[in-house]
Amino acid sequence: MSTFWSEFLNIAANHPFPPMPGDLWSPLDLGSNEFIFPNVPAAPGMPCAGEDRSIYRRGARRWRKLYRVNGHIFQAKRFNRRAFCAFCQDRIWGLGRQGFKCIQCKLLVHKKCHKLVQKPCSNEHVDPVEIKDDANGESTLGRASSVRSRAEPEPALAEPPPAPRADELEPGSQRQYSLDDFELIRVIGRGSYAKVLMVELKRTKRVYAMKVIKKALVTDDEDIDWVQTEKHVFETASNHPFLVGLHSCFQTPSRLFFVIEFVRGGDLMFHMQRQRRLPEEHARFYAAEISLALHFLHDRGVIYRDLKLDNVLLDHEGHIKLTDYGMCKEGVRPGDTTSTFCGTPNYIAPEILRGEEYGFSVDWWALGVLTYEMLAGRSPFDITHAHDNPDQNTEDYLFQVILEKTIRIPRSLSVKAASVLKGFLNKNPVERLGCGENGFMDIVSHPFFRSIEWEMLEQKQVVPPFKPRLEGERDLANFPPEFTDEPVHLTPDNDTVIADIDQSEFEGFEYVNPLLMSLEDCV
Ligand code: ADP
Ligand code: MG
Repeated sequence: MSTFWSEFLNIAANHPFPPMPGDLWSPLDLGSNEFIFPNVPAAPGMPCAGEDRSIYRRGARRWRKLYRVNGHIFQAKRFNRRAFCAFCQDRIWGLGRQGFKCIQCKLLVHKKCHKLVQKPCSNEHVDPVEIKDDANGESTLGRASSVRSRAEPEPALAEPPPAPRADELEPGSQRQYSLDDFELIRVIGRGSYAKVLMVELKRTKRVYAMKVIKKALVTDDEDIDWVQTEKHVFETASNHPFLVGLHSCFQTPSRLFFVIEFVRGGDLMFHMQRQRRLPEEHARFYAAEISLALHFLHDRGVIYRDLKLDNVLLDHEGHIKLTDYGMCKEGVRPGDTTSTFCGTPNYIAPEILRGEEYGFSVDWWALGVLTYEMLAGRSPFDITHAHDNPDQNTEDYLFQVILEKTIRIPRSLSVKAASVLKGFLNKNPVERLGCGENGFMDIVSHPFFRSIEWEMLEQKQVVPPFKPRLEGERDLANFPPEFTDEPVHLTPDNDTVIADIDQSEFEGFEYVNPLLMSLEDCV
């Protein structure tokens, strides 16, 4: 058992709201995500001397919840095909995740029956935690890895694939897009699972960003849900100035494509690498715009769950835009909670680590971490001194620091800045800034934000403190050369990979944003 597992169980065991007895979490990747900016890089976007970019450019992960009973390790599943419970023999219906499947022996049971299973697992020796990066660096990380062999037949009769979603393109509306409609210009970014390109829509010559995801990385049930969520949130986001909106979605046999607004100023990670730390005035402006974006999402029942420097983009004027909705949780009403263990290690809130149910509070914690990074130029959980000690250079150690260590605020910061950081970085979500009875209003009225005129800010009427240097619409000066120097082409489809993909899972992915389209027709 990895140290993380033992640590986690230890933590869970000592907590008043532990997971169910026998529950486990499987960490699907290791490697920490803390960072500092040790010096000024030779050129913008270049790594600092001695800096390993991989530790913080990647990292969002979803851990999978596992339930151990009698040697079985069960995972919640949604079944497209007919399946029957090995315990009570009744049918397991496909809606929601009513079924549990042992990731070792493949036994299927109802969620309600899983604790009653007496037959021991026949295949206990299989290592349940396995993670592999694919060859070209588009890592599967925690999003897709599963030990289920896809070649193995489901113990059930095949049913017709689910009907396409009803909320897709209405008849008579705009035509669908395809890869042929776009010219691929440059690679501009990579995240934990996606590659992002700058592209031109040939018909209008407009520039967009195109987020490309390999289907082979998202064929697990949970990942399909995540793709749908990312699409829904992109749609919602199209209505807010500080969120990246969606133009269209389409697919090829091997890939999914999100065509989204191209945000020219690069991400905050890029700017932080150049500037090391920001004046309070700048950090205040970004934190306030991010707060408005988070509040908008929360108001619509969405927890963002992956706020970090590389998901905050700057537009050509210097306003922020959040992107990357792959970790979002939808349909959360006030007071609702959820429990998926996910996020990027350095930004994960203590309540998630403690295995508690959580709500919108985790986003305000992450804003605290990010604001600390902007003001101090380093993570509040700076464990770089521990790099030489192998026992401390692990994710478990980082989690322990997040849970237990008192956060030290640099003395150079103002009293108000220290107070807002302490407010957001309160380890108790009930007492955290933004999570009390007054919710968002407590942030609005915090002394740190006193100079912010919130209404003007939301209407983009406040001039940003920093304007990204840009020479024209297609200038890529704000994107790291390690991406922009990459060849832009997509590798040809591989028949054996495609044969393994269940295309019915992606039916109805196509989408065209009617609003953006009508704007396009105006020009
Ligand atoms: P992942 O979900 O794999 O983390 P992201 O959506 O975060 O992928 O994209 C990876 C990187 O690509 C981002 O960190 C950012 O630098 C860049 N990027 C993403 N979306 C855009 C966009 N709309 N405009 C410009 N750059 C973008
Ligand atoms: Mg990202």
